[in-house]
Amino acid sequence: MGTKIPAAQTRLFKNIFVCKACGQKLRTDSIRVIAKKVKCRRCGQKDFRPIKAKKK
Ligand SMILES: [Zn+2]
Repeated sequence: MGTKIPAAQTRLFKNIFVCKACGQKLRTDSIRVIAKKVKCRRCGQKDFRPIKAKKK
């Protein structure tokens, strides 16, 4: 009961994706990325990776 992590912050971080082609960041739902319903604003392709994967 000591630490209080805001769930909204975790969710926000999870919902940020990076375009595999140009590196443009955008916030969306992972469901939409998997369903390929998200289009990169800069280059127009549909391949994204979670921003967290970059750290790995
Ligand atoms: Zn792009």
